[in-house]
Amino acid sequence: MKDTNFDLIVLGAGPGGYVAAIRAAQLGMRVACVEKDPTLGGTCLNVGCIPSKALLDSTEHYATAQHGLAAHGIKVGALELDLPAMMARKDKVVKLGTQGIIGLFKKNKIEPVTGYGRLRSRNTVDVTNGGATRTLTGQRVLIATGSVPIQLPDLPFDGKRIISSTEALCMRAVPRRLLIIGAGAIGLELGSVWNRLGAEVLVVELLDRIVPGMDRKMAGLLQRVLQKQGMKFQLQTTARTAARAGSGLQVTLEARGSTSTEECDVLLVAVGRRPFVDGLGAREVGVAFDDRGRITVDRRYATTVPGIYAIGDVIAGPMLAHKAEEEGVAAVEMMAGQAGHVNYDAVPNVVYTWPELASVGLSEEQAQSQEIPFKVGTFPFLANARARCMNETEGMVKMLADAKTDRVLGIHILGARASDVIAEAAIAMEFGASAEDIARSAHAHPTLPEALKEAALAVHQRSINI
Ligand SMILES: Cc1cc2nc3c(=O)[nH]c(=O)nc-3n(C[C@H](O)[C@H](O)[C@H](O)COP(=O)(O)OP(=O)(O)OC[C@H]3O[C@@H](n4cnc5c(N)ncnc54)[C@H](O)[C@@H]3O)c2cc1C
Repeated sequence: MKDTNFDLIVLGAGPGGYVAAIRAAQLGMRVACVEKDPTLGGTCLNVGCIPSKALLDSTEHYATAQHGLAAHGIKVGALELDLPAMMARKDKVVKLGTQGIIGLFKKNKIEPVTGYGRLRSRNTVDVTNGGATRTLTGQRVLIATGSVPIQLPDLPFDGKRIISSTEALCMRAVPRRLLIIGAGAIGLELGSVWNRLGAEVLVVELLDRIVPGMDRKMAGLLQRVLQKQGMKFQLQTTARTAARAGSGLQVTLEARGSTSTEECDVLLVAVGRRPFVDGLGAREVGVAFDDRGRITVDRRYATTVPGIYAIGDVIAGPMLAHKAEEEGVAAVEMMAGQAGHVNYDAVPNVVYTWPELASVGLSEEQAQSQEIPFKVGTFPFLANARARCMNETEGMVKMLADAKTDRVLGIHILGARASDVIAEAAIAMEFGASAEDIARSAHAHPTLPEALKEAALAVHQRSINI
């Protein structure tokens, strides 16, 4: 069967693809969106952001009920974990999201096409589903095929003992000992989930710090808090091999020349994700890639083949859902002759541990390496009234501002609901705010964002509450 006349064929219905499809339809394009998986929403909705946050929220309640309520004068009896119910709630949250996209596609008259998409030419896509192939043709094709977990050659996934984030989101029992390779956001978030539920968690990291890319000092503070919660860390350490030991694994670790072994029930490999273009036929039609396997695009998200565009995890940049969404919108707006734009300097990044670590803009190390003279203002949540009311005084806000112009260069927040507070920081940076601008903006009292205002005041040594 041959379908012609699409203005845009989107490959992949993750946050990049489905959002691009909707924006394109709003702009009057006739859009088809091809997805190989049975549900829409991609990594983010099915096996990423949403199920992980659903479990983080549930386990935060569990941890609070265990350790956080007594301080509020609330006594609870013995707690019982109902893991199947917790998983079922998570699945329900996912289902609501994926079904919501079906509704959005209907509303916007986007044609969802289920099957594996393969580029036959610059404007033709074969979609295979079971034995049937449907051929779509269109003016333009947008590749939004995302990413998959990186597998270590000596520690291949078996789905049971050596697992990726996907399986770590649906374990049926709490492992006694969980070893995690990789101290990035995914490793720390999933480590937090299972640590709160009672697993002994050891995180092994190749570098000498956790959450690489985030401000080093803030990362150090987060590590201290997670250690207090019971998580263990071995930095500058590599996991080499794993051998079966009873019902678990014996993992060989190497740290600065010496080896040791660790036993665990489950080994979670969370060393990053790679762009996914398997079976896509992109190379065959002439699409160029960089040396890290990412599709090369220009500032209009155009690949080296006229008419083929790419966005999201499959191109360079942070692998984040909101980055993919912004690129999807910008790409199709530019296709429609509008002035789409993504400000990569103001894309926030969050690690959803408790407390959360959120940042936008430059870290102190990045400002130093770019030789930008800067001033720093900090403010601890211990001095924030709302944080004290909540009994969530861990963490601080750190603001970097240009020493000459006072323009905000970066904001880093370790604290309760930092993921929400960072929104103000991102907007301030998007609008090119100075520390003075934030310091002079009225903030509702008592709220956590007041800590941001105080950090801005601290840039000029005039904090009020410390
Ligand atoms: C555990 C975990 C937690 C995460 N948490 C967060 C978070 O809190 N915040 C955040 O911003 N990011 C988070 N991420 C990252 C986020 O999920 C990704 O950055 C985001 O999903 C990328 O969007 P995308 O549209 O580029 O690709 P994807 O979401 O990967 O979607 C790509 C889609 O394309 C489909 N596809 C691939 N090839 C084909 C083909 N040939 N034909 C048809 N369909 C195809 C795939 O099946 C998939 O549905 C998390 C990731 C993981 C794994």
